Formats: sequence, C-alpha cells, structure tokens
Amino acid sequence: MTGELCPRIAILDADTANQIAAGEVVERPASVVKELVENSLDAAARHITIEVKGGGLTLIRVRDDGWGINREDAALAFARHATSKIRRAADLWGITTLGFRGEALPSIAAVARVEMDTRPPGETAGTRVRIAGGGEPEVTAIGCPPGTTVTVTDLFYNTPARRQYLKKPANEARAIVAAVEKLALAHPEVAFNLHLEGRRLLSTPGNSDLQAVVAAIYGLETGRELLPLAGEGEGWTLKGFISPPWLHRAGRSQQVLTVNGRYIFNRLLTRAVEECYQAVIPSGRHPLFILQLAIDPRLVDVNVHPAKLEVRFQQEYELARQVAALVNRALHTPRAVAPATTAA
Ligand code: ADP
Ligand code: MG
Repeated sequence: MTGELCPRIAILDADTANQIAAGEVVERPASVVKELVENSLDAAARHITIEVKGGGLTLIRVRDDGWGINREDAALAFARHATSKIRRAADLWGITTLGFRGEALPSIAAVARVEMDTRPPGETAGTRVRIAGGGEPEVTAIGCPPGTTVTVTDLFYNTPARRQYLKKPANEARAIVAAVEKLALAHPEVAFNLHLEGRRLLSTPGNSDLQAVVAAIYGLETGRELLPLAGEGEGWTLKGFISPPWLHRAGRSQQVLTVNGRYIFNRLLTRAVEECYQAVIPSGRHPLFILQLAIDPRLVDVNVHPAKLEVRFQQEYELARQVAALVNRALHTPRAVAPATTAA
C-alpha cells in the first residue's frame, strides 16, 4: 500500500546540503575569522595578519606564513570532508590540530566569494583558487609570497535570511575582535595583527610571552596585576594568569580557557575557578583568567560541537577539583593579598 498521507523522502541536492552544513560552521563573520586563523595555526604560521571591513561582511582577509598548499591539493581543500589532518576515525582519539573535519573552507565558500593564494615555501610558483557560492573552484598559477592568504568577500550574499539575522556590522566587528583576542591569548608564540576598517587594532609580539599578549589586549596595568599560576596533574599541565581579588569585571568576556591551543567554553571548569573567588569579590562580579591547559589528547574529546567550542574531558570533576586547588594556591600567595602598588 502506498501511503497517500506520508511525505516522500529524497536526498537533498548538493547545494542545499552545503548551505545547511555551512550554517553550522559559519554562524557569523567571527566564525569565518576563527576558522581561517585556526587553519593558519595548524599550518605552523608564525605571523598571522587579519584584515576586516564592514564587520566582516564586506571583507575578511587572513594572511599567514605557514606551510601553504600544493597546486594539486589547492582545489581539494574546498571539498567537503577533505582534510590533511586526520585519515581515519581512530585518529579522532588523539587530535593535536585545531581542525580535522574538513568543513570550514567548503562551508565558507558555500556562503561567500573566496579567493585563496597559496605557496609552500619550497615552491617557486603559487596557486590561486577562486570559488563562490559553492560553485566549482577555478585554479590558476600566480606569484605570491610563501604561505596562504584567504580573502572572503560578500559573506552571506547568497543567503539573505542569514544576512538579515546578523547584528549590525559594528557588533559583528566586536565579535571578531573578541575571537582574535582569544586566539592570540591561546597562541603567544604567534605574532597576530588585526586591522579593522583600515585601523590597526591589535598587535602581539609572537615571542611566546603570554603576559605580553595579556598586556597588548587588556592593557599594561592589568597585565602587571595578574597573578601567575602553574601546575600539573596526571596527563596535563596548566599555566596562565588569574586576577587578584581586587580586579574583577561585570561580565565574563575576560575569562579565557584554552585546551591544547584551542579556546573553549567549559561550564564546570569556569565554575570551579569562580568559586575560588566567592568569598573575596563582590557577588555579581567575575574574576579574569587566562588559563592554558595542555592535556594528553586522548583525555579529551573535541568532536562534540560543530564549532568545537565545547570539549569533553575524561574525569572532568577531578580535573575541576585540581584546577580549583591551583587557583586557590595562587590566590594565597603574598602578591594576591595586597595590590602591587600599595605593597611597594
Ligand atoms: P580542516 O582544517 O578541518 O582540515 P578546512 O576546510 O579548514 O578543514 O581546510 C581544509 C584543508 O586545507 C586543511 O586540512 C589544510 O590541509 C588546508 N588548509 C586550509 N587552510 C590552510 C592554510 N592557511 N595553510 C595551509 N593549509 C591550509
Ligand atoms: Mg580548518
């Protein structure tokens, strides 16, 4: 019997499927910036320059001096599930790169116009790939510096619903700045430069000095006041800076937790840190922290969220307990008891 009432099932055409998948990865301009910068970091770049116009809707350009892409692979980078970072499912249990899904470039190309210039340092000629709205990539030879430059223009030009839903360009620009700040804090070994509407907004030295990055982003004063923290447990080490009791904020935007170079959000760890401050800062206020967790990749699952903003730890409660112990210890050092200015 053929049911008259039940709707027929059909596989979506590639364009539609691409736009749906793109919606998960490319929520807003800041997600494009994050994905492109993460690709640059995975390519071992030492210098990353980000240029943004019109809140990222007009232009996003990310230039790096990483290892580039060979001519033969350049177009493949824009195919869905095409990646150089994993080969098989078993690799998911030891991810050491920021990317691994092979979804960012095809997703971005599905909802914008993209031009990628790339050249491995050992090659003499570069390659340009142009692709728009999920169409066929067009590959040509060009001259370009070693590394990769990806230029994204007219973001969401072919998805008016998404474009309409976005906040004003100034808000999108703010989200981009926040994303770049976190990426820079997660990678003090890389020199970041961010230009917004032609103005240089952020510049980090790239000399592996986390405190210098903190100072570049939150200001010299804050950089000086933060308390250093370092410690380790089984399969992990933690280092970074936390605020002394007299430094606190109305929101949580200056709380940055990174796991193996990836900034993430984790409710349990955030709460564990905040609880250490409960007795020393006014209620409703929040501490600052920049904590870098380096953990055995087998103890963390990063494959739980499309934008990889959440991860799952093995023995999360034990980890949170030990992190809290380290924070408490840092809060009880002499420097944490009185402001540096009055103690001097
Ligand atoms: P993923 O990062 O998950 O592998 P992407 O779609 O972001 O997927 O990128 C696809 C592939 O293109 C990457 O695996 C990498 O090999 C290559 N690639 C992308 N951006 C760069 C870059 N800036 N430098 C070198 N290779 C890159
Ligand atoms: Mg990627």
